[in-house]
Amino acid sequence: MNGLTHKVALVTGAANGIGFAIAQRLYDEGANVVLADWNEEQLATAIEAFDSTRVAAQVIDVSDPKKVKAMIDNAVSRFGKLDILVNNAGIHIPGSVLESSVEDWKKISAVNIDGVVYCSKFALPELLKTQGTIVNTASVSGLGGDWGAAFYCASKGAVVNLTRAMALDHGAAGVRINAVCPSLVKTNMTNGWSQEIRDKFNERIALGRAAEPSEIAAAVAFLASDDASFINGVNLPVDGGATAS
Ligand code: NAD
Repeated sequence: MNGLTHKVALVTGAANGIGFAIAQRLYDEGANVVLADWNEEQLATAIEAFDSTRVAAQVIDVSDPKKVKAMIDNAVSRFGKLDILVNNAGIHIPGSVLESSVEDWKKISAVNIDGVVYCSKFALPELLKTQGTIVNTASVSGLGGDWGAAFYCASKGAVVNLTRAMALDHGAAGVRINAVCPSLVKTNMTNGWSQEIRDKFNERIALGRAAEPSEIAAAVAFLASDDASFINGVNLPVDGGATAS
């Protein structure tokens, strides 16, 4: 794979799970990386894993547009430019529409949809300067429905189509925009899920197991690299075959 030396990446939701693995992989490929997360304590622990001047930590709630704008400005003043935005921060709240509350919808749409919109909106002027790229962490739950998480599915469906629309709008200017769509991944988000829900996921995964966060990070690093120079507007399932049938 073409390395990412001299690239500057910003990864949201980077204190844990998939986002942390993405930050590690981009860093290992040579990028300067801003790790952004709203959990200050966990972010401070995450940053300790990096022994370098090539990383920075940014406490951020991605659903706050003013703070998101300031985050992008901070990243550019710290490292001089922005080449890669990874919109990865997300939350999951279980429940059907009937079971879930209006407050649940406000919370989930604020992080999973508004957060991706705001980060993309304020990063794009910088990405246009560098002919950079965006990789979103969507989900197989955005490609088709899933059980017991209607609001989450709706939010990831929005990310899937936002990915396509942004790719169409900004491709001509040289900015590629793609997403990864994981199935079940071993992270804090899924640790607490019931066995019933896990079984339903695992039955659909041809490889018969959940993914490691590093397996999602590898796909993100590829999409962010010049090796993916003609891949644009794609929502790539990284799902062990869950969507193959
Ligand atoms: P995780 O809970 O381990 O990590 C999510 C991180 O996002 C946390 O560090 C959290 O503090 C941060 N975060 C949440 N809301 C935020 C906000 N408003 N502002 C900034 N940071 C915020 O979860 P994960 O499994 O690593 O999930 C990462 C992404 O992958 C999410 O978008 C999730 O929807 C998606 N995803 C996960 C799975 C899975 O099975 N784990 C499957 C498909 C997609």
